Amino acid sequence: MTETLIQGADTIVTMDDARRELHGADILIRGGEIVDVGQGLRTSGDVVSAKGCVVTPGLVNTHHHLYQSLTRAVPQGQNALLFGWLQTLYPIWSRFGPEEMRVSAMTGLAELALSGCTLTSDHLYLYPNGARLDDTIEAARAIGLRFHPTRGAMSIGQSDGGLPPDALVEREADILNDCIRVIDAFHDPREGSMCRVGIAPCSPFSVSRDLMRDAALLARDKGVMLHTHLAENDEDIAYSLEKFGCRPGQYAEDLGWTGDDVWHAHCVKLDGQEIDLFAKSGTGVAHCPCSNCRLGSGIAPVRAMRDAGVKVGLGVDGSASNDAGNLILEARQSMLLQRVANGADAMSAREALEIATRGGADVLGRPDCGRIAAGKRADIAIWDTGCIESAGSWDAAALLLAGPTRVRDLFVEGRRIVAGGHLASYDLPDLIAQQNRLARALAESL
Ligand SMILES: [Zn+2]
Repeated sequence: MTETLIQGADTIVTMDDARRELHGADILIRGGEIVDVGQGLRTSGDVVSAKGCVVTPGLVNTHHHLYQSLTRAVPQGQNALLFGWLQTLYPIWSRFGPEEMRVSAMTGLAELALSGCTLTSDHLYLYPNGARLDDTIEAARAIGLRFHPTRGAMSIGQSDGGLPPDALVEREADILNDCIRVIDAFHDPREGSMCRVGIAPCSPFSVSRDLMRDAALLARDKGVMLHTHLAENDEDIAYSLEKFGCRPGQYAEDLGWTGDDVWHAHCVKLDGQEIDLFAKSGTGVAHCPCSNCRLGSGIAPVRAMRDAGVKVGLGVDGSASNDAGNLILEARQSMLLQRVANGADAMSAREALEIATRGGADVLGRPDCGRIAAGKRADIAIWDTGCIESAGSWDAAALLLAGPTRVRDLFVEGRRIVAGGHLASYDLPDLIAQQNRLARALAESL
């Protein structure tokens, strides 16, 4: 089995159970696993010097719509609230097909990798013109990230009083059948898994109550996780009260959508009772601070959630509502936003990094990831602090306060997928050219 020794790191921020920070220390990787962490380790395999670097666990992204990286900064969607923003973008997304899904996902995944992410989920909830979840799984294999794609869905179109155009919704029986197909084809439940599939109706306002319930039953039958958008903004709460006669937390609980195999994106508007419900039931939250700022949704009560014991991870969310997909900057934004809401001592740089690493891994049911310790998966980010952003820093390990914002090297399952700041498996200028060609074609087709 191949061995790699990451040697002589200035600081290793382990995020292990004792939250140790080690200086002048090494990490020994064998195959896809970390086998030792400490000083003076030896190998007959490859040696990667980490002198002048801070080493952290790979970051974990718990919410994304990778297909949206083809619709960044669409002019008509730049200043709209959530529902108006969606209505602007639906007609563009309805022109997507398999190639748009694949290239857009590769772009989003490359951006994540360069910003330190080793494990990401994705929420793909529209399948126009023959697009399939398979297109994004192919993209993740090409870039090399550990991937938790979710089979999303919308079933209530405009003619049934829903928000999306009828062309973007599917029959509920077809949705459930395709969930079964992709779970059987791609879901790997084993420790060290590179691909785990989840089930993810888009939101309570785009599918029926029956589909929400059936999705939960299917997920439990198959042993996969559940994901959706919940309590994103005031419009969302008003819709829930009017249509369902209850708040989103109650709706989720009634339909089987709480538990340690469930995580909800946003949760900006959870009240105290809902926070308690999530803490007691082990339900996870994907906090998406940039998207929440961009769409003016509000500040999620992350401090209160963490204090109550809710599992919280980070999500960059789709690139139509961020519009960046840099995960280390997202972690910085989460720290800053809690300080805006609660004061300068409300969240430290290290706590935000913890949310971005082991926090996200726990939300995704991956205690084998998100920390640097013997027996854990070898998902590791190396940050060169010899860059201009951290010049003069008194505490380079407080990465989120200064920089850098891109990794030098990134290991996923022991494989180096970013080396010297470049993708190891793919030519980035070529990917950017493909992506820009597709974005231009979409703009011209309108
Ligand atoms: Zn989202």
